[in-house]
Amino acid sequence: MDTEMTTIDQNELYDFDFNTTDSIDVPELLIDQIIGQEHAVTVVKKAASQRRHVMMIGTPGTGKSLLAKAMAELLPKEELQDILAYPNPEDQNNPKIRTVPAGKGREIVMAHKLEAQKKAQSRNMLMMLLVFGIIIYSFYVDQLLWGIIAAIMILLLTRQLLPKEEMMIPKLVVNNYNKEHAPYIDATGTHAGALLGDVRHDPFQSGGLETPAHDRVESGDIHKSHKGVLFIDEINTLSLESQQSMLTALQEKEYAITGQSERSSGALVKTEPVPCDFIMVAAGNLDAVEKMHPALRSRIKGYGYEIFMRDSMEDDLENRRNLVRFVAQEVMRDGHIPPFDKSAVNEVIREARRRAGRKGHLTLKLRDLGGLVRVAGDIAHAEEAVVTTAKHVLAAKKMARSIEQQLADSYLERRKDYQLFQKNGSAVGRVNGLAVMGGDSGIVLPIMAEVTPAQSSSEGRVIATGMLKDIAKEAVQNVSAVIKNITGKDTSNHDIHIQFIGTYEGVEGDSASISIATAVISALENIPVDQSVAMTGSLSVRGDVLPIGGATYKIEAAALAGIKKVIIPKSNEDDVLIEEAYKDKIEIVPVTNIIEVIEHSLVGVDKQRIVEKLSKLTNLKLNLDIPEV
Ligand code: ADP
Repeated sequence: MDTEMTTIDQNELYDFDFNTTDSIDVPELLIDQIIGQEHAVTVVKKAASQRRHVMMIGTPGTGKSLLAKAMAELLPKEELQDILAYPNPEDQNNPKIRTVPAGKGREIVMAHKLEAQKKAQSRNMLMMLLVFGIIIYSFYVDQLLWGIIAAIMILLLTRQLLPKEEMMIPKLVVNNYNKEHAPYIDATGTHAGALLGDVRHDPFQSGGLETPAHDRVESGDIHKSHKGVLFIDEINTLSLESQQSMLTALQEKEYAITGQSERSSGALVKTEPVPCDFIMVAAGNLDAVEKMHPALRSRIKGYGYEIFMRDSMEDDLENRRNLVRFVAQEVMRDGHIPPFDKSAVNEVIREARRRAGRKGHLTLKLRDLGGLVRVAGDIAHAEEAVVTTAKHVLAAKKMARSIEQQLADSYLERRKDYQLFQKNGSAVGRVNGLAVMGGDSGIVLPIMAEVTPAQSSSEGRVIATGMLKDIAKEAVQNVSAVIKNITGKDTSNHDIHIQFIGTYEGVEGDSASISIATAVISALENIPVDQSVAMTGSLSVRGDVLPIGGATYKIEAAALAGIKKVIIPKSNEDDVLIEEAYKDKIEIVPVTNIIEVIEHSLVGVDKQRIVEKLSKLTNLKLNLDIPEV
């Protein structure tokens, strides 16, 4: 398997040469490291220069937080400020807030500390002199005991009564000392206190042991990101109150800090307004954005930009070149793994094609692809190899299987145990369908159909069992219309029972519709289905087979399960990029219509009858010279 994989023609992939990724230049600025999201990059640059908020909508792992971080790099660091909290002599519970240029805050606090130390030292000196004086005097007048008692009393009293200089030292609540660029704060999933600031509870509220209110003030992420970027992913998971407060913060550009837990002493304290002039980058998938607080959404929309992230990019020279750089970037970022040689990079590119699941495209789910790079590098590292090669990437692909894939594997095992699907012989009304779990794992999904006389006298029904989600349900409902259309058989005096077997996790999508139709036709006409065949495809009302997603994963799952032939939509032919290991194990048959599906899946003497009948009834043609893949 290894040797086959390294035979990709490298000259075809990109137009430059390199030994390992160490010799590839990685741009310094993060914004220049972003791949495949050119539109987003342009918008982010614009938003940074105009200080506008941004909403990013798209799949996880496509670069949203990277873009937000890149945006922070683009903001001027000259504007950064430090924020200090001071005691308020008039009202202890209303600490004063002051801003100073970045770096100054630290100096101020240090100066105060030094001052306090000096004062305390001279006070202590005086005290010592006084105490000694008393003791010596009492010794001379022969009243030593009384002298010592008096000295201790004086010490204790002054501890309580004299002002404590330390209590007057301001607290640095936002510190931008030595920052290389504007802050980038990721506030995804934080609670209100961390987001909006908090005042700690003071267990000793009086009696000289208390911590002064200003010293208990903690800034929130909205303050820490002052003059920088505040990134919040899955924005809808933020509580409505927090979203409301965010809105206020966005409008006012300042937000007073108060204790967040109602019954703590912190809740008594409220600072003067604390500046929070941040740029908000909110992210999520479409669903998340729709569910966010409408006022917050319209605020961002009205004062900023919305960006849709892409899931894949064209498989062209330029983008492959970028992927080479991506591997170099990830190797550099990790810092521990050996550089990749060409064979390894090419293997990653190949995987990017596979994962795109779309003809002529490369995946942009780069977090996952980066994961593959790291696992491959780790394997190479463990072997003490100096470069990572194709061999390591291939080993990594086996190891770095997603949770869904591992789950699919375990289902597969379980099904094998219970013989949930058959891969030999033939059976009436039983079809091996194929489905995708979690986006990148295929499973064999057996479907059984049975036709019985209608129970209700007025009409036949389609009854589906097994865990089905909405789209799959719709596919089942459509089937009777399709059957009537393409077989001419009126199903109104029949009930059609369709059972999806072993669907613990629920079935999504309509890619099972050719399987359902085939199972029903088999049951209606009593013609057996070849069980060594699996199929996937969406069916139009006219009987055309339409494209589906995840073709590669489905075919691989079928091959792994021991299926010999798999029927796929012809329009998906070019999406298929299965592993070499499976190539000899399975025959792939691309089809354009249901008649071809029947031709390739039903068996027995009656098959021809139904094929001819269908051909007469519909204007579909059997495409007999089907090219083999
Ligand atoms: P998201 O915020 O969309 O979930 P991230 O920005 O956190 O994704 O991406 C995670 C990692 O994946 C990044 O740190 C980077 O290494 C890599 N990555 C993701 N998208 C891109 C991209 N478009 N260009 C370069 N690297 C990317």
